This record gives sequence, structure tokens and C-alpha cells, in this order.
Amino acid sequence: MVLDRTAFYPEGGGQPTDRGTLEADGEKHSVVKVMTRGPQIFHYLDGDIPQGAEVHGVIDWERRYGYMRLHSGEHLLTGLFEAAGSGPKVFSSFTQLDFKPSPLDQETLEDVRRRFDEVVDMDVPVRIYYADRDRLDVGDDERKQSFLEKIPAEVERLRMVEIGDHAHTFCMGTHVKRTGEIGRLKSLRLEPKKKRRKIVYFEL
Ligand SMILES: [Zn+2]
Repeated sequence: MVLDRTAFYPEGGGQPTDRGTLEADGEKHSVVKVMTRGPQIFHYLDGDIPQGAEVHGVIDWERRYGYMRLHSGEHLLTGLFEAAGSGPKVFSSFTQLDFKPSPLDQETLEDVRRRFDEVVDMDVPVRIYYADRDRLDVGDDERKQSFLEKIPAEVERLRMVEIGDHAHTFCMGTHVKRTGEIGRLKSLRLEPKKKRRKIVYFEL
């Protein structure tokens, strides 16, 4: 079903769908998936709610907050690796970053690990703001260029996320307010692959 407004985050931008419940006329329904289709946000439920009903939605906050932490950590880690000369990121998830071509070595990995935990301990604010699209410069980062190309031409202002001097990019996802919420790294591991691809596995 489609609501006139919603707090549910639809699957996208590397972040999974919110789950939770919608309650109408005293009856609770599980929200199993939330997706964008065109301009609308669809909530997929385990039952039917009559059209025009007034609903009360509750997000599974524990699940959402976990992904906010992981996703924000992904930004910070990416920013630190790029600043350390990792080369361009070609893939990213909640547990893995791939750089290619990349000169990353074990020593740089240890430096980044220390920096990450320092920035977490400093509890740096995660800032969200909007920027004019035509003033954004992504340099020669092909991944960011291709993301930008996929954003419809009529979108003039982009939502930006900035973590101090450590990470800065455009993103529509959900983030924590401060780096302290991300928490320190549990593990960080480097796996060199063929053709100068370096995979970093991380755990938060
Ligand atoms: Zn983000």
C-alpha cells in the first residue's frame, strides 16, 4: 500500500528495506518490504488494509539502527582508505570494500584501522546537507560518475553526507548522527586478488 507520508526507508542505495508494522482499526500487519516505484513508496504487507484507512506505522528500530551503523561505518572506512591512497572503490557492502587498481598493503591497513577507531572515539558529527548538482566534482571516480548519471536530470540538489574531513559523498541512505554510534572495528582484513584488486573485509 501507498501512504501519504512514511518513515519507512525503501530498499536502495545499498541499504535494505525497513521492516515493522502498520496498524489500522486495531489490526496490526507486518511490513515485509518497502520499495520505491516511480515517485511512490510501496509498503508490502502480510494482509490487506482498506483504502483510505488511517494507519500507525512502527519501524523495527533495532534492525534499522544496525544498518545505519554499518552503512555509516562503510562511509568512514571508505573515506579513510581513499585518503590513504587505496585507489578507487569498485564495490562496497556492509562487510566488504573492493579497490581496483589498488596498492593497499598490510601497513596501510593497520594505519586505517587506528584512524577509524580514533575517529569513532572522537565522536565526530555525521553531517547531512544538500548541494547543487552542477557544483559537485567527483573527479575521475568512475563509480561515482556512473551513480550520478543514474540520478534523473531533474534532480538538481543532491543529498550529501560528510564525516569531518574523513568522508564526503552524495548519499540518500540512513546514517547515525555521530561516529561514536558506529563503534570500533571488530576486525579488518586485507585479501589481495588478481589484477591489482584488493578486498578489505571488515566487521563492526
Ligand atoms: Zn550513506
